[in-house]
Amino acid sequence: MAVATSPPVDKTDEQKAITDMVRQFADEQILPNAEHYDHEDEFPEPIVEQMKELGLFGVTIPEEYGGMGLDLTTYTMIVEELSRGWISISGIINTHFIGSYLLMKFGSEEQKDKYLPRMSTGEIRAAFSLSEPELGSDVQAIKTAAKKTDDGDYEINGQKMWVTNGLKSALVFTLVKTDPDAEQRHRGMTCFIAEKEPDVSENTGEYAGFTVPPQLRKMGYKGVESTELVFDGYRCPADNILGGEDAGLNKGFAQMMDALEVGRVNVAARGVGIAQRALELALRYSQERKTFGKQIAQHQAIQFKLADMATQVEAARLMTLRAARLKDAGERSDLEAGMAKLFASEAGRFCVEESFRIHGGYGYSKEYEIERLYRDAPLLLIGEGTSEIQRMVIGKKLLERHKI
Ligand SMILES: Cc1cc2nc3c(=O)[nH]c(=O)nc-3n(C[C@H](O)[C@H](O)[C@H](O)COP(=O)(O)OP(=O)(O)OC[C@H]3O[C@@H](n4cnc5c(N)ncnc54)[C@H](O)[C@@H]3O)c2cc1C
Repeated sequence: MAVATSPPVDKTDEQKAITDMVRQFADEQILPNAEHYDHEDEFPEPIVEQMKELGLFGVTIPEEYGGMGLDLTTYTMIVEELSRGWISISGIINTHFIGSYLLMKFGSEEQKDKYLPRMSTGEIRAAFSLSEPELGSDVQAIKTAAKKTDDGDYEINGQKMWVTNGLKSALVFTLVKTDPDAEQRHRGMTCFIAEKEPDVSENTGEYAGFTVPPQLRKMGYKGVESTELVFDGYRCPADNILGGEDAGLNKGFAQMMDALEVGRVNVAARGVGIAQRALELALRYSQERKTFGKQIAQHQAIQFKLADMATQVEAARLMTLRAARLKDAGERSDLEAGMAKLFASEAGRFCVEESFRIHGGYGYSKEYEIERLYRDAPLLLIGEGTSEIQRMVIGKKLLERHKI
């Protein structure tokens, strides 16, 4: 029974064509294979190869660098469709998208020319690294440090944590401390484009001192690797400071916070995608399962669950698209991005749990897709700032905008 509801959102012809294409890709390539890769915790290489062919690694990269040159709104629609298939697939392009955003907005011309063409094809992929073993929310507490050497390079030492795509990436946009004496902590940080060999744990030669320990074992979000990174005397040329040394030294915190704003819209879209899928599964199962002589969908208690889920999906989608559209229009969207991330990630968790309840005992079985969603959804409450941190951001921005 086909119960996939089509998101009722205004789309341009181009947006409709591309999201239809990605939805078909999710239906035909992601959904039938997600269970296998999730179960084996295996990187979905064949799916990623097809994503390269579809150009999905270059959605927002300008055409002059080989990308599609599409806006954040269209990217958001694509991420919803991929996440509806499996959030690990969107995870593979998400930190890559943030890396390309950082380059497009803050990179020097040389850096854009050097990386963007190969990033748009997916030949090289990017990761994004703020968190450390002792910090996540409190980014300003970063301890990993870079010091200038006599030959003009920077030597990086320290440890990073929870780096999505930490092993397979070739570039890691890494925030480190460069001025330990800065009066305001955030003014002493720099974003380095740390290069390494993809898929190599112990880097040697020009990348010596950059180690990727074995991937972290997780409850869900399988298939895509999350790793620590160890920098031990790793040499990074000054040219690899985002924006160049003159423009970028000690500017990393503001650059990364700017990127987190689009990152939050991106996580919101993932929340919409997983919530949408949970709703679809609930709509189907509730019309298949019978209790007390009728479909469970005919019990009002179940219909109320479906109603609450569909309402949350709709609201989350509209909030996410509004934040993306404001950003595309060049307007301020920090408050809206925080609200969208908070609401949509919580909607993802809510809808998955309601769908799980509707599945009764079968929801607890690995035979049913909702079991995977149940392990995947909580990640969205954490990444790109927890719900508590979103509320802090929203509260702060509200007061800034409505100062009396
Ligand atoms: C699978 C996965 C992938 C990830 N990928 C990446 C990645 O690619 N790059 C990256 O840099 N990071 C990544 N992260 C890290 C993620 O961003 C952090 O886990 C997150 O920011 C929370 O940080 P923390 O885990 O250190 O929690 P903490 O900051 O220690 O917070 C613990 C708890 O305290 C709450 N809290 C903290 N401060 C306050 C406060 N001031 N007021 C009220 N409550 C507060 C938090 O909301 C949370 O509930 C990933 C994490 C996971 C699980």
